[in-house]
Amino acid sequence: MNNKLYIYNTLTREKELFEPIVPGRVGLYVCGPTVYGDPHLGHARPAITFDILFRYLSHLGYKVRYVRNITDVGHLVNDADSGEDKIAKKAKLENLEPMEVVQFYLNRYHKAMEALNVLSPSIEPHASGHIIEQIQLVKEILDKGYAYESGGSVYFDVEKYDKEYHYGVLSGRNIDDRLNTTRELEGQEEKHNWCDFALWKKASPEHIMRWPSPWSDGFPGWHLECTAMSKKYLGEQFDIHGGGMDLIFPHHECEIAQSVASTGHDAVRYWMHNNMITVNGQKMGKSLGNFINLEQFFNGTHELLTQPYTPMTIRFFILQAHYRSTVDFSNEALQASEKGLARLLEAYDNIKRLNEDSNESSVDVDDLIGKSFEALNDDLNTPILISHLFEAAKIINSSLAGQIHLTTDNIQKLKGFFDLFLFDLLGIKNERRDGNASYDSFAKAIDMLLDMRMQAKINKDWATSDKIRNELTALGFEIKDTKEGFEWKLNH
Ligand code: ZN
Repeated sequence: MNNKLYIYNTLTREKELFEPIVPGRVGLYVCGPTVYGDPHLGHARPAITFDILFRYLSHLGYKVRYVRNITDVGHLVNDADSGEDKIAKKAKLENLEPMEVVQFYLNRYHKAMEALNVLSPSIEPHASGHIIEQIQLVKEILDKGYAYESGGSVYFDVEKYDKEYHYGVLSGRNIDDRLNTTRELEGQEEKHNWCDFALWKKASPEHIMRWPSPWSDGFPGWHLECTAMSKKYLGEQFDIHGGGMDLIFPHHECEIAQSVASTGHDAVRYWMHNNMITVNGQKMGKSLGNFINLEQFFNGTHELLTQPYTPMTIRFFILQAHYRSTVDFSNEALQASEKGLARLLEAYDNIKRLNEDSNESSVDVDDLIGKSFEALNDDLNTPILISHLFEAAKIINSSLAGQIHLTTDNIQKLKGFFDLFLFDLLGIKNERRDGNASYDSFAKAIDMLLDMRMQAKINKDWATSDKIRNELTALGFEIKDTKEGFEWKLNH
C-alpha cells in the first residue's frame, strides 16, 4: 500500500509529505468548541474534517493521540480581550452556574457528533481544568521577557516578540500595519500596544469565573489554553494542529507566539485548516437569520429548510467538497447529496445480488482502490475518492443489468472497497440498516401497516386502505403493489 500522505501546511503554504516526529505515532490537536450554544454547521465541519484525518492516520497504522479541547472559560464576547466571558454571559441570562451551561451544551455537542459518526478524540481537556498549567505558561513567558504585567493583568508583548521572531508567520499579517492603526477600545488602556493580547485578565468584581494567580484573581486569555494543553498532552513539539480557517488569526498566530516565546520554537509541525461554510451563498450569522443548528437540520424545523436532512446526508455533503474549499448549504445541494448517498448505499446492498458470471473480467477494482488511496494521500481529497465510489456503483449496476461481467474476485473486492472507503474511512453509517434491531422493528411496523391495508382492500374498506397509503406517502414512503403483495421504500 502506498502510504505517502501529503498534507497542506498552512504555515509553509505547501503540500508536504507527512512524516511524524516519532515514528509510528501521531500527536494531533484540534481546537474544539466554545460550549455556550447549540452545535451548528461551524462545529460539524472541523469535527468531520479531522475525523477523516484521524481515521486515515489510524488506518495507515499510526498510533494517534487526538486531543480536542473544550473551551469553557476565557473566550470573551469581544475577541480583543474585552467584554464578558461568552459562557458567563449565557449563565447570567439563564440564571445558571457557568458549568451548568457548559455541561448542557457539551452534552448536546457530543450527541450531535455521535449522530454525525464523528469518533471521540483520545483526550478532551477542559480549559477550566488546566488553570495551573496556564498560570505556569504565563510565568514562563514573563520570565523570558515577552510579557508584562499591567493593572493585575498580563499581556503578551507583540512588538518585542516581533523584533526577534516574526509575528504573523501563519496569517501573513504584518505587525507594522497593525501598530499604526489607532483604535480605541474599552478596556484596552492597560496595553502598551493595541495588538498585544491578554495572557491573564484581572476579573472585574461582577465576573464570576475567576481563579487566584500571582497577578490577580482572574482568568486566562483564550489563546493560552491550547498552548498549555497541547504541551501537557502532546509535548513541546507535536505533529498536527488543526482548526477552522477563522482561527488562523488571532487564535493560532497567538498560539505560535506563546510557544516560541516560552520554548524558543513553534510546537507544531503541520498546521491544517478547514475552510468555512456558507448558507445559500451567505456567511452564517445570527443576524442574517441563516444560522441553522444541527438539530434543526436533523428535524427540518428551520424556516430555510424544505425538509429534514439525516446526519449522514450532512456528513456526506461536507465530504463532497475538499476541506480547503468553502461549502455552500442549500436545499438543492443537500437533496442532490441525499440522492447520491442513497445511490451508493443501494449499490452496496446490491453487491449481494451479484453473481460471478465470468472467469475473467475487464473490471479492475484494484485500480479503483489504488486511485482512492491516492486521493486520500493527496491532502485528503474526499471528493475524488467519492467519485471513485460512484464508479464502483456504476460497475455494480451495469453487472446487474447484464452489461458487464464480474469474477468472484471482483465481487469480493467491490464489497471490501465500500467497506473500507465508504464506511471505515469516510465514516458513513448505513442509517437504514445500522443498529439492525431498530431498523428491523421499523421495517416490520411498516410491513404490518401495509398488511392491514391489504386486508382493508379485501374487505372493500377503501377509506382505511387509502388512509394508510396516503399517510405513508406523505411521510416519504413509496409504495408499490406487486403480484406477491407490496413493496415499499423510504424516499426523502
Ligand atoms: Zn485553540
